[in-house]
Amino acid sequence: MKREALAVILLSAAVGVAGADTKVTGECDRIAQKLASIDQSECLNRALAITRGESVQGAPILLKEYLPMENRQPRGRVLLVGGIHGDEYSSVSIVFKWMSILDEHHTGLFHWRIVPLLNPDGLLRQEARRMNAHGVDLNRNFPMPGWEDLAPRYWVEQTNSSPRYFPGEKPLSEPESRWLVDEINGFSPDVIVAVHAPHGVVDYDGPRSGPRKLGRLYLNLLGTFPGSLGNYAGVQRRIPVVTVELPYAGTMPRPAEVAEMWRDLVRWLSKNTPAQGRLVDEPGFGEKPDQVTDPS
Ligand SMILES: [Zn+2]
Repeated sequence: MKREALAVILLSAAVGVAGADTKVTGECDRIAQKLASIDQSECLNRALAITRGESVQGAPILLKEYLPMENRQPRGRVLLVGGIHGDEYSSVSIVFKWMSILDEHHTGLFHWRIVPLLNPDGLLRQEARRMNAHGVDLNRNFPMPGWEDLAPRYWVEQTNSSPRYFPGEKPLSEPESRWLVDEINGFSPDVIVAVHAPHGVVDYDGPRSGPRKLGRLYLNLLGTFPGSLGNYAGVQRRIPVVTVELPYAGTMPRPAEVAEMWRDLVRWLSKNTPAQGRLVDEPGFGEKPDQVTDPS
């Protein structure tokens, strides 16, 4: 290869990396301006990567991957998603706090992919809102058999056509929900953890049963909605979906509570991921909790 050609390739690779860095920095800027408990350095220090995913308005969907230990089958692949609804600030902030814990303690037992903010357009507009830039509730836009009938009917009858719950014109009409489904297909997670607010419970969809508690939040099944992620992944695809419903959308749990929720989540994952071979219902709720020496 000619030297000049190589130089051009090297240069364009460098520009590509620099472009990605600029995008992450810009996105961290915007996130830090919006979230009281996350400043720019805390966002940048997480070393998030650009994905192929983009919002309606072209904002990058950022992701952090924590790889499993080399030469060892991970206990499971876990996909953790915050900020599906743009006005649930705490659901984004807590994912950043959990990433900080992982950055310190990740030992490679699990393979994580973490998306702190699926709906950047909803959060990062002047007045944050639940829906994406098309006015679609992403958590009603996932496919299910009969979606075309059920999702609009539920919207009209159960929400009085509230714009906050508009499911879209068709399933996966939105780039953010399409990207998440691609991510589920490519990563093939054993468990999905989705963070919301403000119902103050743990919800669960899928085979087996969910965590009895995460910190002070207790398991309380809210039921599934046509087009929700829990319905799509948990009910249709039989991938366990743990939905963490924080108590307040605008106020973060205290740091000790954030850490306790994380410990409870990792403990539950350790006992309930398929690589462990425990495909039966978790019998250990009444047991003394295991000593968790490895929080990731
Ligand atoms: Zn929500």
